[in-house]
Amino acid sequence: KDEVDIIQGALELRSKTVGGIMTPIDDCFMINLSSTLDFETMREIMSTGYTRIPVYENERTNIVSILFVKDLAFVDPDDCMALKTVCKFYQHPLNFVFNDTTLDKLLDEFKTGAFHMAIVHKVNNEGPGDPYYEVIGIVTMEDVIEEIIKSE
Ligand code: ATP
Ligand code: ATP
Repeated sequence: KDEVDIIQGALELRSKTVGGIMTPIDDCFMINLSSTLDFETMREIMSTGYTRIPVYENERTNIVSILFVKDLAFVDPDDCMALKTVCKFYQHPLNFVFNDTTLDKLLDEFKTGAFHMAIVHKVNNEGPGDPYYEVIGIVTMEDVIEEIIKSE
């Protein structure tokens, strides 16, 4: 029964999309690029338990970098270093994926091993202006795995 559920979950990856399993942007723990890595900020980051923290500039939909919690290993809170300095030093690449990408494709990308979190965007063509890419969430390998093993 368990194996059947997992196989079933795997087969359904082709009919499910990133938009359905992502963590919406409003539920993401993110940090402002202009932040200072003082004690309080570092404490807040650590307390979330997340390994990867999107970094935004001005607006939460404008993600410009990703901070890995391990990047903080050599940061002394007493130095009150600028987050920008740490982001510039590591320059972890950002990976984007469209909301209508199917989960089998997303899993293939994650399996290449280059990254385990992607930023979800969609083409927004509502309104009178030109269509634009709008960031709407994040998705990780964990979200895909959960979709495979979850029993209905
Ligand atoms: P799930 O177990 O459903 O996957 P999760 O791990 O994605 O949940 P939560 O359990 O809701 O996330 O939250 C984990 C920690 O991150 C909590 O301390 C929570 O307060 C904090 N947190 C989550 N989202 C935000 C946010 N948008 N801003 C600040 N803190 C957040
Ligand atoms: P890892 O397990 O690799 O240490 P993690 O525990 O930080 O990483 P994941 O296991 O990849 O996070 O994801 C767990 C859930 O939390 C997923 O639903 C993912 O979308 C969500 N998530 C990951 N990072 C964040 C974040 N910064 N803010 C809110 N949700 C997040």
